[in-house]
Amino acid sequence: MIDLYILGASGSIGRQTIDIVKRYPNKFRVVAMSLGHDLALASNLVEVVKPSLICLRNKTDFIKTNAKVCYGDEGLLEIASYKASSNEAVLVNALVGSSGLKPTIRAIECGKNIALANKETLVMAGDIINSLVKKYKVKLHPIDSEHNAIWQCIKGEKKAQIKRLIITASGGSFRDKTREELENVTKADALKHPNWSMGAKITIDSATMMNKGFEVIEAHHLFNMPYDKISTILHKESIVHSLVEYNDLSIKALLGTPDMRLPILYALSYPNHLKIKDLNSLILEGKTLSFAKLDEKRYPLLKAAYDSGIKGGLYPTVLNASNEAAVKLFLEDKIKFLDIEKIVFEYLSKDYSNIPYNIDNIINLDKEIQKEILEKYGDRL
Ligand code: MG
Repeated sequence: MIDLYILGASGSIGRQTIDIVKRYPNKFRVVAMSLGHDLALASNLVEVVKPSLICLRNKTDFIKTNAKVCYGDEGLLEIASYKASSNEAVLVNALVGSSGLKPTIRAIECGKNIALANKETLVMAGDIINSLVKKYKVKLHPIDSEHNAIWQCIKGEKKAQIKRLIITASGGSFRDKTREELENVTKADALKHPNWSMGAKITIDSATMMNKGFEVIEAHHLFNMPYDKISTILHKESIVHSLVEYNDLSIKALLGTPDMRLPILYALSYPNHLKIKDLNSLILEGKTLSFAKLDEKRYPLLKAAYDSGIKGGLYPTVLNASNEAAVKLFLEDKIKFLDIEKIVFEYLSKDYSNIPYNIDNIINLDKEIQKEILEKYGDRL
């Protein structure tokens, strides 16, 4: 039995993790989870899962439960430190944005393995997380579908024989629009992702291609690959989840239906491929797979991610913080779609090269930049 501690249980990845847990009652159980603002949903999830510790957003939030209740950011840390039994413990981090960083660190320090959907953790502090993973001898398993695919493609292979990683991108909700047509797109347009059903933030990040940029940085840290060995490719069908090219030019790809439950299951049961009922096999007959170049001019934030990753230090934190605040403003109808990248470039153009790379500076700079952007642009309407 593996004990799961889920952060962000009310979100898309959190709920799909609970769906997986319900299918394997003898393998997994959820012992603690954090929930979002929707208290009716939180109440339903707690009733189904029956965890012994839950975290609600605010002290004023209330649901009927026998579980111990904790609150807010402190509560996330409490879940990360909590130990329900001597079973193997896995923290499933499905939080959105920079809030995922501190609890990941705490969970590693407490000896928990990590199943990571919160890519911002690695974007901001990948080198620190990697050294903590080594120090505390825990495992870090990627849930993000592209990285989960690469992880499967490199199983049993030697790293030195990998020529490059190829991360696929569906192109997001605006893939067929020109840059001119992006001037006046709305929040509702942006939230219609053609292939994946995901939370609001990541759907916007997909439309700007920031998500793919984050995934490049995430891959760099997860697989210890230099940036010149990580490439991206447009693949509209979301069937090939990523590929790995080897020195002998052979390419391995991982195919599957676009259903996040598959990478979640593999992240929880690695190195095994468990039988899964009631989900349909991918039918390849009649399908066409297409691949095209991802244009850096069309998606400048993708290039910004490579540049920030290569610069290293605090630059990926600046990239993430400015994007996170800008996306929040866009989702509140306070700025236009193309303002997101304008704000990110405004902040990336400043000099952060003399700030030492450590957790305190990462967390402080993240807060400072987000606060400044929300204040500066938040009431322009
Ligand atoms: Mg992904």
